[in-house]
Amino acid sequence: MYKEQELKPHRIVVLGGGESGVGAAILAKDKGMDVFLSDYGTIAPRYVEMLQAEEIPFEQGKHTMELILNADEVVKSPGIAPTLPVMQAIAGHGIPVISEIELAGRYTDARMVCITGSNGKTTTTLLTYHILKQAGVNVGLAGNVGRSLALQVARDHHDVYVIELSSFQLENMYEFKANIAVILNITPDHLDRYDYKMDNYIAAKFRILNNLTPSDAFIYWQDDPVIARQLERVTTDARLFPFGLHHLDSTRGYVDDDDESVVFDGSPETSFRMPRADLSLSGLHNLYNSLAAGLSACLLDIKKDDIRQALSDFEGVEHRLEYVATVDGVRYINDSKATNVNSCWYALESMPDSRSTVLILGGKDKGNDYSEIAELVEHKVKAIVCMGLHNEKLLDFFSGKVPEIRSTASIDDAVAACRELASEGDTVLLSPCCASFDLFHSYEHRGEMFKAAVKALLNND
Ligand code: ADP
Repeated sequence: MYKEQELKPHRIVVLGGGESGVGAAILAKDKGMDVFLSDYGTIAPRYVEMLQAEEIPFEQGKHTMELILNADEVVKSPGIAPTLPVMQAIAGHGIPVISEIELAGRYTDARMVCITGSNGKTTTTLLTYHILKQAGVNVGLAGNVGRSLALQVARDHHDVYVIELSSFQLENMYEFKANIAVILNITPDHLDRYDYKMDNYIAAKFRILNNLTPSDAFIYWQDDPVIARQLERVTTDARLFPFGLHHLDSTRGYVDDDDESVVFDGSPETSFRMPRADLSLSGLHNLYNSLAAGLSACLLDIKKDDIRQALSDFEGVEHRLEYVATVDGVRYINDSKATNVNSCWYALESMPDSRSTVLILGGKDKGNDYSEIAELVEHKVKAIVCMGLHNEKLLDFFSGKVPEIRSTASIDDAVAACRELASEGDTVLLSPCCASFDLFHSYEHRGEMFKAAVKALLNND
């Protein structure tokens, strides 16, 4: 930890007035700093009220450079790209830029479980939080899941935090350290933010290992080729807890082929096993998420029975393989959060082998390579419904690979097409591989609209 006096900057400028930025501003103010918050867009009314109540000066709709470039340190919200002119000017003035998590880490001794990866972060974070909460730990939930760590450090006391970290957040973390660091997987995502260089993205994810000591733990998916390769290049002092489907020499979390039980080999005192069928989350990807969460809980010395119980009664997370309804014998599944090709791969993997899935794809393509799902599509998908303003790339790639492919440009048309194409016993799966911004405000909005359109089918029946 830093000594406060030594590093307390005179002036902190926070960029971005959302959950992360406002939390950082409140913590900095509480610590006696001179704080100013600037947001180039519009700040939501709830955050304006918080800033006013705390008497923190702020601006929105502009960046006044004289009020920004006199900062001793800048706290950047994760959504702000480092290439923006304001960030270039800050870099040009040599002003250090940190993340909200870095700032918060300076003011707490709580134990930190930090979770990153290309897919599965939110699910694993919420599942880990659920286990700890049910076991009676005074635990806070923070990071990308939508709750500011800085605000909780300022106003609530927690003994442990479970933090979802995106690569954007990790970029501006330096002295912060986790006690338990988790990397679930690394596949291409957000490459637009990394000069289309996968190595930069991998390096950002691996920053989660910064400052780990031999008493800390690193939990990761053993079968991920990208993680394996990077582990040959970097060193860490942390104890390693690889997990995977099968047991290799070093594996600490896996499925025992003999009796299909899931083994959590945290430490000699906390190791335990449970039937795979008792895990509440289904699908191979969720087995991995359950292994990572269960191992984290073992390492925090949570009682085996508490972990077993929580892994079997967790209710899942909205917009992630969420069951919506059955209409005319057709199951509708909302996986709107599948904003990249890899997460769609896992969604398809959990579908039945017969060609009984109607798949909705499309939206804002982030440089996708669809060959990753081509084989699963050929085995499992009877029709593709493209839903977006630019469907050409999907139509080009999948035409001839599925019996039917349709192009639509709205949720209602897409759901109507699915209804026509699916018959009793089939599944309609929204797992779009793309960001939602062409037709929707967010993946949540896309998922809500999908659910509403499906429920409207029910009501019209
Ligand atoms: P994130 O927070 O990393 O975006 P989520 O938990 O929100 O991850 O899940 C996003 C999507 O990724 C879901 O649609 C889900 O089907 C898929 N997914 C979840 N866990 C994994 C995993 N371990 N590996 C690959 N895909 C996953």
